[in-house]
Amino acid sequence: MNVSVVLFTSDLRLHDHPPLTAALAGAREVVPLFVRDPRCTAPARLAFLADCLRDLDAGLRERGGRLVVRSGDPVEEVARIVAETGAGAVHMAADVSGFAQRREERLRQALGARLHVHDAVNAAVAPGAVLPAGSDHFAVFTPYYRHWSRTPLRHPLAAPRTVRVPEGVASEPLPAGEGTGGETAGRARLAAWLRTGVNAYEERHDDLAGDATSKLSAHLHFGTLSPVELVHLVRTVPGPGAEAFRRQVAWRDFHRQVLAARPDAAHADYRTKHDRWRTGADARDDIEAWRAGRTGYPVVDAAMRQLLHEGWMHNRGRLLAASFLTKTLYIDWRVGAAHFMSLLVDADVANNQLNWQWTAGTGTDSRPNRVLNPVTQAKRYDPEGVYVRRWVPELAGVEGPLVHEPWRLRGAVADYPGPIVDLADGLARFRRARGLD
Ligand code: FAD
Repeated sequence: MNVSVVLFTSDLRLHDHPPLTAALAGAREVVPLFVRDPRCTAPARLAFLADCLRDLDAGLRERGGRLVVRSGDPVEEVARIVAETGAGAVHMAADVSGFAQRREERLRQALGARLHVHDAVNAAVAPGAVLPAGSDHFAVFTPYYRHWSRTPLRHPLAAPRTVRVPEGVASEPLPAGEGTGGETAGRARLAAWLRTGVNAYEERHDDLAGDATSKLSAHLHFGTLSPVELVHLVRTVPGPGAEAFRRQVAWRDFHRQVLAARPDAAHADYRTKHDRWRTGADARDDIEAWRAGRTGYPVVDAAMRQLLHEGWMHNRGRLLAASFLTKTLYIDWRVGAAHFMSLLVDADVANNQLNWQWTAGTGTDSRPNRVLNPVTQAKRYDPEGVYVRRWVPELAGVEGPLVHEPWRLRGAVADYPGPIVDLADGLARFRRARGLD
């Protein structure tokens, strides 16, 4: 074959890239294509994406090629490139969201047998590769994890030595980047994490102030790191830290296989509790306070402000902020998920929507009615109040764990709001709504 196309989507790397390897094996020349879809333009992620594209282009140029960037509908752009170059094959990675599944279906209609979709590019274990008897996905994590751990992974592929791109294929200029995204940065972060971070992961991953997690989530979302290669590497590290980290990475595959089988779980309850979430003016005020980090519960506010400032939030913070919105305030999980989606650099339909559903008790949690108490949790995971003081400057002068309960201080703290809800009232409302009392 003379020419093949590789459509890059959430797999912006050269190492361990099955579609690229297959395209190079089957054709003399390859068009590495990325289509900017104007529907996917959350500002929080544009800078990171720009870095990824620039780094991918630089890596291709070192190998004699280059990246072709076009804007528009991915199916139309792929068809255009196929017509321009006479390409005989198009290779791409399988993906799980409804959007990705529809895109694949439309590409199949347009290209027929010329489309080659590769599994285990964006997941270590592809959706459907392990299944429980009689179902199309695992609905419970623990048995999934047992199967996942035993599943042999394919061997990671080397980055190609040379890439020849046909002459004359036009590309738009690359967007300007800032330097934190991209495969080079992702691989450096992973190497440093495996050298110095992962061993302490089991003890420290819940320490809100500790910055002791990998911060690899955006790299995994954009595919600048291969999950297959990552799991292979982590398996070479002995000890409970690496084991706990691997388990967390398996959660990512778990949510992907749920969404692949139930793409509507991005917006509909996975297991409905027939909630009649609060709406109206009071609810709107509460939502505003939650978004702004002004609920009067310091640990929730710290987490929400970390999101606003960094485009990232600690996992324990995400759990607390989500539990507070859905259970203590009894607001629809979709409201919170949309807010996270608009601000997280690692925002990911599978991980975000299904973690929100898990926390709201409409998802896969086997204890759907548990409510996290933000004060108890804060004292456990931020015992000295370091995290709160870092993100809530109004409370910077309050020493020790008392910072988690500013209402117990004599005299109000200037500019910091009182609690917008009484925790006992919130709990009672939730239990009533779910028919638990
Ligand atoms: P680490 O603790 O170092 O974990 C390593 C990797 O494992 C992560 O990068 C991630 O890919 C995966 N992982 C870890 N925890 C989870 C989990 N609970 N579910 C699925 N995968 C996990 N993660 C996202 O990648 N994108 C999201 O949009 C997202 N939204 C979330 C929303 C809520 C309400 C909650 C509770 C969690 C959400 N998570 C999301 C999961 C988790 O919080 C982040 O993956 C993690 O905080 C990212 O930081 P890290 O890379 O340092 O994680």
